[in-house]
Amino acid sequence: MATAIALLVLWLPIVTLCYVGWCLVSPWGTCRRCAPGGKNRTCRACEGTGMRPRLGWQLYVYFRRLHRDGTR
Ligand SMILES: [Zn+2]
Repeated sequence: MATAIALLVLWLPIVTLCYVGWCLVSPWGTCRRCAPGGKNRTCRACEGTGMRPRLGWQLYVYFRRLHRDGTR
């Protein structure tokens, strides 16, 4: 059990780093709501573009804005 926890603790930062890198390489993912049937012009989640920003990218944009507003 202790080995599993140690492995998890070791892997967590690696997985997080990989996810952050992935978000930076391709910040836009496909829209889950209309991806199976292709683009849907009436889709509200992606406004008809079929692309949605990833959660990590949204967080990055949010914190960047927070930082910019805080340091102005
Ligand atoms: Zn959509």
